[in-house]
Amino acid sequence: MINLLDYSYEDLEILIENLRQPKYRINQLYDALQNYKDANSISNLPNDLIAILKKDFIFCPLQIIEEKTGKDGTKKFLYKLQDGNIIEGVLMSYKYGNTLCVSTQVGCKMGCKFCASTLNGFVRNLSSGEIIAQVLCVNKSLGGTYKNRKITNIVLMGSGEPLDNYENVVRFIKNVSYEKGINISQRNISLSTCGLVEKIDALKEENLQITLTISLHAPTDEIRREIMPIANKYTIKQVVEAARRYFNKTKRRIVFEYALIDNVNDSFACADELANILKGLSCHVNLIPLNNVEERNLNGTNKKRAYAFMNRLASKNISTTIRRTIGEDIDGACGQLRNKFISNNM
Ligand code: SAH
Repeated sequence: MINLLDYSYEDLEILIENLRQPKYRINQLYDALQNYKDANSISNLPNDLIAILKKDFIFCPLQIIEEKTGKDGTKKFLYKLQDGNIIEGVLMSYKYGNTLCVSTQVGCKMGCKFCASTLNGFVRNLSSGEIIAQVLCVNKSLGGTYKNRKITNIVLMGSGEPLDNYENVVRFIKNVSYEKGINISQRNISLSTCGLVEKIDALKEENLQITLTISLHAPTDEIRREIMPIANKYTIKQVVEAARRYFNKTKRRIVFEYALIDNVNDSFACADELANILKGLSCHVNLIPLNNVEERNLNGTNKKRAYAFMNRLASKNISTTIRRTIGEDIDGACGQLRNKFISNNM
């Protein structure tokens, strides 16, 4: 079965033409898909066409099976895929709009010590349609349509390493920002990666306006190797050089994520070294006190130390903020809800 949401508008044009249908069916079908309608609830397409499509194609590749709302309004979703796999998403509301955090893989291969997404290993990549379905499905559940969207921003920061699923992710970004569809501006999309150097180099050639976010989390290779296995493959120098090339090509400021972990990477010496390696690069550092992961013995830095770290960086002219932790009361952080679900239900 082919997922219709894997198709671009142009792919649908070809499909409708091959089925010898009139051209106006293209927009009718595309409208229905962008509004996340399933085959049985599309009233303006003839029954025989729906029957043909239903035979070979999936319309809605995932369903929300659980939804939790935190005290701060953050919503957490669990989705079930056609093959029974479970993925998760988080919706954060801000003054300027709603940001949806999407997953790109079921599980993850990267093995970061502090990340819950990786605890159950890697299962499979999501197709571009399964990624866009998260956006369209939540948009619909909030009462939105693609013309009156309730989601304004997207972060690829859910489960998975987006650049380890490169083609599907790039296709997703192009389809979700397509002008005839839900049309989320690429400038409102952030892609977060643990720093796959060759893929960063490839991405800069795609002519996208997205923000590249790199999970650095350490200022030296020694510390980074302790918490992120990918650091055995690429040095920090290689990652930062790739970031520099990305900026030079796209002129988009790079964001570095730095999870502050108690007694691991939160000393002044670390702040100084971080400032040193980022010197001269147009970038911003997002500090996130680590969300404790019960299964691992790693704890977040306390508030006072986090602010001291931030001020130290700022004093060295590095643009930096502390990201407020959100949705902690609903296991909103990185793979936690899915893990609870899996350990309770499977
Ligand atoms: N694979 C991508 C996206 C995944 S997660 C990446 O590595 O960037 C999005 C962000 O959350 C990453 O910066 C990741 O390192 C961070 N993260 C994971 N677990 C965390 C935790 N327990 N506390 C704080 N941040 C965490």
